[in-house]
Amino acid sequence: MNDHQLNQFSRQILLDGWGIEAQQRVINSRVLIVGAGGLGHGLSQHLVRAGVSITLVDPDRVDLSNLSRQWFSADDVGRPKVEAAARLLSGLGSVDAQVLAFDDNNAGRFSDHDLWIDASDNLATRLCMHHAARRHRLPWIMGTALMWSGQCAAFAPGAPCFECVFGHIREPAQQCDTSGVLGPVVNQVATTQALWALSYLGAVAALPVGRLRRWDGPHGDVMDLSFTHREHCDCRSSAHNP
Ligand SMILES: [Zn+2]
Repeated sequence: MNDHQLNQFSRQILLDGWGIEAQQRVINSRVLIVGAGGLGHGLSQHLVRAGVSITLVDPDRVDLSNLSRQWFSADDVGRPKVEAAARLLSGLGSVDAQVLAFDDNNAGRFSDHDLWIDASDNLATRLCMHHAARRHRLPWIMGTALMWSGQCAAFAPGAPCFECVFGHIREPAQQCDTSGVLGPVVNQVATTQALWALSYLGAVAALPVGRLRRWDGPHGDVMDLSFTHREHCDCRSSAHNP
């Protein structure tokens, strides 16, 4: 770590339990963020400023209706979201911005990353991440925000998986573009995903698998739900049979 980095990350390095070693691990890590909307925008800010190299993928462009919760400028409307997000982080760290929809065909490109984070806005992409992360034996963190509710959960090989928590679910009837969402709810989810990611990447704490954190209502009431392996789900055995 050079003097510039020591200064840039000095407040984290000072943290009890963090130090030079955790910071170096974070600097050496690469994270895939799928989605550059409200969640991905906040995540990329937290992670890159903390020293993580990220790959940010999203096929969408900034829309005027995004600006209530996604901190793009009015001048960004019409630009690819990943490019607008990367521009805000210029000079602060490594951002590989790709105008791309994550899917089964391209998931393997990102198998060399240390962690995947779901910042998408749809179940199809989330399920694709679930299956691909299991295939490549990678940990990942999901996050959603809709109306007054947000939730996030972490998954790792051998731990209860996405289907253990949610079963075989279908796309919910409500979406942000029809039912709404509030900026602070989105940011609460993104900030928690970023905290879990940094603690994991720095080897300060393991990912909190087997738990679903949920916020709900105008006061952001917090619930932590525990879950175990679902009967007949083969994710438990996948820890021993890669
Ligand atoms: Zn499972």
